[in-house]
Amino acid sequence: MLNTLKQVFLPSFCAACQTESTDSVCKTCCLKILRITNIDPTHLSFGKYEGILKDLIHQFKFENRYGLSKTFSTFLIPLIPKNTDCFIPVPLHLQRLKSRKYNQMVLVLNEMSQKTKIPMHIDVLKKHVPTHPQQILSRTQRLKNLNNVFHVEKKEKIKNKNILLLDDVISTGTTTQKCKTQLLKSGANSVTILTIAKN
Ligand SMILES: [Zn+2]
Repeated sequence: MLNTLKQVFLPSFCAACQTESTDSVCKTCCLKILRITNIDPTHLSFGKYEGILKDLIHQFKFENRYGLSKTFSTFLIPLIPKNTDCFIPVPLHLQRLKSRKYNQMVLVLNEMSQKTKIPMHIDVLKKHVPTHPQQILSRTQRLKNLNNVFHVEKKEKIKNKNILLLDDVISTGTTTQKCKTQLLKSGANSVTILTIAKN
């Protein structure tokens, strides 16, 4: 009943093609997303960073389209490894957090955590110093820029745990790799990387 009323009074639109849809992304558009088919068990991604998926991620990150966190969670849940003990997001530094207002991946993780009952820890992996956006740096600069940037607090929460580390897009993998190393050094049993898209 409530759902019917919602549909009558609050018509919603597909974020990708703008046609009327009860889902934030319609089924036709979901099917158009180019999926990642070569499965690397240590790094999982839902789709290629292009076309519809790229557009959706941009809307989510820069146009405050919060509703997409639900859609992204339904994309990612089937990819969660069976042995996962907890979710951890790749952190944004406080300054970046202020300019973007929030770490969007936490919204996605929150949806995933509610649906799967797997806990998420947002107070474990922290970032020390502001870094330049990775895209404008060379590979050497990038590695230098990230040395000792990430650190782990509340190590007891991850001791011997199998962690799923989440980020929106992976391109070179430098950032996620640094996070993974830090988590393993701090006592995690395993770290699998999961991203919405792969560049
Ligand atoms: Zn659509």
